[in-house]
Amino acid sequence: MSTPMFEKIALIGIGLIGSSLARVICRERLAGHIAIATRSAETLKRAEELKLGDAYTTDARGAVRGADLVIVSVPVGASGAVAEEIAPALKKGVILTDVGSTKTSVIAQMQPFVPEGVHFIPGHPLAGTEKSGPDAGFAELFENRWCIFTPLEDTDPDALEKLSEFWRRCGCNIDTMDAQHHDMTLAIVSHLPHIIAYSIVGTADDLETVTKSKVIKYSASGFRDFTRLAASDPTMWRDVCLHNRDAILEMLGRFSEDLASLQRAIRWSEADKLFGLFTRTRAIRRSIIEAGQDIDMPDFGRQAIGRPQAAQPQQCKAPGVCLVPSSGAAP
Ligand code: NAP
Repeated sequence: MSTPMFEKIALIGIGLIGSSLARVICRERLAGHIAIATRSAETLKRAEELKLGDAYTTDARGAVRGADLVIVSVPVGASGAVAEEIAPALKKGVILTDVGSTKTSVIAQMQPFVPEGVHFIPGHPLAGTEKSGPDAGFAELFENRWCIFTPLEDTDPDALEKLSEFWRRCGCNIDTMDAQHHDMTLAIVSHLPHIIAYSIVGTADDLETVTKSKVIKYSASGFRDFTRLAASDPTMWRDVCLHNRDAILEMLGRFSEDLASLQRAIRWSEADKLFGLFTRTRAIRRSIIEAGQDIDMPDFGRQAIGRPQAAQPQQCKAPGVCLVPSSGAAP
């Protein structure tokens, strides 16, 4: 059997992202040993039942001891506290990375605690679902998705290449950019759509003239697609809003102006303007499909491709050995 990429990988946080990583690390045999740490005894027990790793603890500091790769997968607002806790046990030469949806804030929180000789490389896999917790993960989550690194000025190129190769083996394509650019980009492609969805679903919920049962009954007319985004984890999205505030406010400002312009076009029956906008946006949908970032099926193909809700656990009975193959379904 070939030597795994890392002798020991410590996963701090074992929700959707952490548990998907555990599954793909196991499937691809990327680690000799997977140590799992999570805050609550309940989540830890579930991770153990799913056999996601080789060792389980609520002591994050203990988990990272001797690891050559540490991946922090917790809500972005908790990154600083986690870095402070694990820092004294990080060994020289270890790669420390995260998967947080915001980068400037995560760097500001974590970097002050990173000891000399530790390669801290902030990262963000653009892959997810509206589900959370260890049952929600699946090994295929990262397949053909982008993983963005926001390296620091002194990031070691060899460490960056090794981490890039790790994510490539998890299925990702790799990109690098600076943290501010990442945060601005993600504000438009991810954060704003989620905020709009939360807002629309909240508005529908508040409407007194339409009963809730009617909203749900006729939801397939468009509302349903927003509810999927609006079902995303409240803790994660509270933290994203608080930790990418400036970029989100900037994008919300632009959005409000464009919405006002659309409102005006409807009020004044500006047919050409409406038709022009709707034609332009339809072309964007086509380019997303052409780029392989979604498939051209009704309901965005989600029902049809039958993404596993509770993916088959890949049992790491012996270090790095998966006993149950993955389901092979696309995310
Ligand atoms: P999740 O499923 O809710 O799991 C969160 C994990 O973090 C759990 O292990 C949880 O532990 C732990 N945790 C929660 N609060 C904590 C705290 N205050 N201190 C220490 N640990 C804490 O979340 P996720 O979806 O995997 O997201 C994890 C990270 O990935 C976030 O930073 C998010 O921005 C990023 N991300 C998410 C997505 C997505 O679509 N979900 C996509 C890309 C990146 P317990 O359960 O034991 O409390």
